[in-house]
Amino acid sequence: MAKKELQVSAIENGTVIDHIPAAKLFDVINVLGIASMENAMTYGTNLKSSKLGKKAIIKIWDKFLEDNEVNKLALVAPTAKINIIRDYEVVDVPERVEGIVKCMNPKCITNHEKVRTKFRVVNDSPIVLKCHYCEKLTDQEHMEMN
Ligand code: ZN
Repeated sequence: MAKKELQVSAIENGTVIDHIPAAKLFDVINVLGIASMENAMTYGTNLKSSKLGKKAIIKIWDKFLEDNEVNKLALVAPTAKINIIRDYEVVDVPERVEGIVKCMNPKCITNHEKVRTKFRVVNDSPIVLKCHYCEKLTDQEHMEMN
């Protein structure tokens, strides 16, 4: 815990994206468009992680990820953990994906009516999504973008 506090302590308000596999760092930066943001940001990479071997971490000041940004991040780096920081406190974000992935159940309402897909991330490595409407699981292998 002391280590975690250290990693996020330097930021008053903003987002810390932790547990990014080191090899995915630049994919995350690209998919979120971080390089073109005006917010201050820093990243560290090749940090030791017992879970991932080497991990990267990104801090973005005064930035809170939009739903679509959270979704993109979940697809590029499903192990990533988003920490929202407000007044130096970490606020947890529920892991969910909305809109950009198709439900693999052909009978699902989202495949027949104009209903935005909504999933809960039930496993992150490999990624498995559970449909909010039909409760069928969609795994990485069957994942199709909307
Ligand atoms: Zn469904």
